[in-house]
Amino acid sequence: MSDTDFIVVGQGLAGSVLSLKLIEQGFSVKVIDKPELSSCSKIAAGIWNPVVFKRLTKSWMVDDLLPEMLKFYRGAETKLNSKFITERNILKIFSEQQEADLWQVKSSFELKNYLLNEVLSENNFKHVKKTAYGHSKVLQAGNLDVSVFLNATKDFLAANDSLINEVFDHSALKAGEIITYKNVSAKRIVFADGYLVKNNPYFNYLPFKPAKGEVLTVEMNDLNTGNNIINKNAFLLPLAKGLYKAGATYNWEDLSENTTGDALKELLSKLEKIADCEIKVLAQEAGIRPSVLDRRPVIGPHPKHNNMYLFNGFGTKGVMLAPYFAGHLINHVKDGKAISKDVCLSRFNHFFVN
Ligand SMILES: Cc1cc2nc3c(=O)[nH]c(=O)nc-3n(C[C@H](O)[C@H](O)[C@H](O)COP(=O)(O)OP(=O)(O)OC[C@H]3O[C@@H](n4cnc5c(N)ncnc54)[C@H](O)[C@@H]3O)c2cc1C
Repeated sequence: MSDTDFIVVGQGLAGSVLSLKLIEQGFSVKVIDKPELSSCSKIAAGIWNPVVFKRLTKSWMVDDLLPEMLKFYRGAETKLNSKFITERNILKIFSEQQEADLWQVKSSFELKNYLLNEVLSENNFKHVKKTAYGHSKVLQAGNLDVSVFLNATKDFLAANDSLINEVFDHSALKAGEIITYKNVSAKRIVFADGYLVKNNPYFNYLPFKPAKGEVLTVEMNDLNTGNNIINKNAFLLPLAKGLYKAGATYNWEDLSENTTGDALKELLSKLEKIADCEIKVLAQEAGIRPSVLDRRPVIGPHPKHNNMYLFNGFGTKGVMLAPYFAGHLINHVKDGKAISKDVCLSRFNHFFVN
């Protein structure tokens, strides 16, 4: 029997961030993951955007999340001897005059730290289509290369004998003051199992509302966006010279991880409105976002088993949310600090049937 402080189920974005933070705080962990089961983190564009374009407001808690996020990933780059974050601007192309007007107002006051306070009419980017309404820039944005981060974390965990590559079998788990799973005994277990929480008998009562998303990898050799992400109803993220990731779609009905012709059509039509050059599709991928009915993370102990936790519900914003809330959960476990009621799993206790 091997002893550990924590079993963590899942090494997607959430499980990776949490495991690294636990190790940093001196805890021992055994991470159990079968990466082939889910592709959400692996295919994510990894963009962080401090504003929500729909109503042009601050992204939820961004003033707290952003510094914590940068500190965490920069530290992880050093620890894992890898490079996975890039700070960039998002070039927002306006589709109507109202958008440009709202930008002028918001960039002067409420969002002045995050938006360039100017609407620009000329763009120097080859083959990015101009509109009559101009464009501007979101500041303090960027992207995490999620695949590189996951692989670097996987190698680190494996080198420390902290990774078990297998499908977690819930029927082999024995709950109690000490948790046992096959030949591992642990003080606590945390499920960071993404949308596959639907197969988790301890937490599948929670009101998840998963959203399928598809992305394309495209070659657009004539396009040059510099270091900028482009956004106009879709994003275009530079990966390498002439190579971009484009997305994403949202679908709440089809929850398979298969790619679809409809998504391909939708994304190509949006790209054609952004750029006037040849687009060659190199890859199309799909994944399921673990979103929740009220669009907030779900974190905390199980209503009956107080050493069994969930760290999930990161929806469309795992990159920005996971570092802050991993610290939040660890503070709760270590020092008994209350979990914020906005994210605490207990907000859904009325769904729990004993
Ligand atoms: C198309 C698309 C684009 C996105 N773009 C962005 C973006 O630009 N920025 C952003 O912040 N977010 C983005 N997201 C959202 C982001 O991907 C998620 O917030 C995040 O990846 C969720 O991570 P997770 O670890 O909770 O879940 P997952 O990535 O699903 O990880 C769960 C892990 O647990 C494992 N697992 C589950 N059950 C078991 C079991 N029984 N046994 C063993 N292993 C198990 C799975 O195999 C997987 O490895 C995007 C998502 C999609 C689909």
